[in-house]
Amino acid sequence: MPNSKLIDSYGRVADDLRISVTDRCNFRCIYCMPAEGLKWLAREDILRFEEIVRLARIFVERYGVRTIRITGGEPLVRVKLEELIGMINAIDPTLDITMTTNGVLLRQKAPALKDAGLKRINISLDTLRMDTFKDMARSDAFDRVMDGITAAREAGLWPIKLNMVVMKGHNDDEVVDFARLARSEGYEVRFIEFMPLDGDNIWTNGQVVPSRRIQEQIEDLFPLEPVVDTRPGPATRFRFVDGAPGGVGFISSVSQAFCTTCNRVRLTAEGGLRTCLFSLHETPLRDLMRSGVSDDHLGGVIEAAIWRKEEGHLINQPGFIKPAKSMSQIGG
Ligand code: SAM
Ligand code: SF4
Repeated sequence: MPNSKLIDSYGRVADDLRISVTDRCNFRCIYCMPAEGLKWLAREDILRFEEIVRLARIFVERYGVRTIRITGGEPLVRVKLEELIGMINAIDPTLDITMTTNGVLLRQKAPALKDAGLKRINISLDTLRMDTFKDMARSDAFDRVMDGITAAREAGLWPIKLNMVVMKGHNDDEVVDFARLARSEGYEVRFIEFMPLDGDNIWTNGQVVPSRRIQEQIEDLFPLEPVVDTRPGPATRFRFVDGAPGGVGFISSVSQAFCTTCNRVRLTAEGGLRTCLFSLHETPLRDLMRSGVSDDHLGGVIEAAIWRKEEGHLINQPGFIKPAKSMSQIGG
């Protein structure tokens, strides 16, 4: 039984932990990372598997965290990631362990991930067109990603959610095609608004396609009805009224922030605890752990950090300050 819950000063409970396992990536998505990449963290600065598991155990056993999402950078470039999944699964095999990946390494990795205890997977896919893929991911790996999605399915990683970041002038003409794909394959497609967390500082509000507009386009062809979620989540989810499989979800961080129900907390690859994607500071845990402090001490630091969680982000408001780190450095 957990000792207590991680509650912030606004009464929200943090029970969804996102762990970034690397800041590196084999893609250079235009909304995330510059074409030339970023200055990578040194190997010794990144949390070791044992350190990640120690923190995960504290979150699970002391504070009742039930969902752990592995992310990055691209998580599957971290060597032997399946071993880490197995170690986290050993804390409690009923944990909801999920991963967000660009999918390019899934053909090789999916069976081992499934065997290790990965329960679900989100695969990022912004387009169904090879040329747009080259434009957005700055990679030639479109076919490998599509095959990776198939491999995940074959390995039994189900349900599969597809994450599509919608950018005006790049892929916003494909949203109905993605709804068709959801219906034919049974995927849940999550349309994500472009957030000001890109490494190139190209974000403008004009490039954001509001979820409402995407929903209208889809509903012109395929009427939707809301899915009532028992647990809070960032996505507003819908199923198809005609009973087709799959569904759609909208992550409207810019047009309709969901901060009042946010239950997330993030651990960066170098062990920084972040209470919001848009936090301007984080609580460093790595050096504290390496200095030999007890779990009780770490727990106290974690509780204090969560208590200070921001009320919400200020995108599109006068006080907004873009964090110095990009999405790949935070762990989306
Ligand atoms: N590399 C993996 C991937 O792309 O799935 C995991 C890490 S990535 C940072 C996590 C998610 O953040 C992906 O779905 C990606 O599309 C999304 N993302 C990255 N930059 C974003 C931005 N500026 N706005 C909205 N979503 C973004
Ligand atoms: Fe890499 Fe994911 Fe960022 Fe794309 S969104 S550059 S795949 S970390």
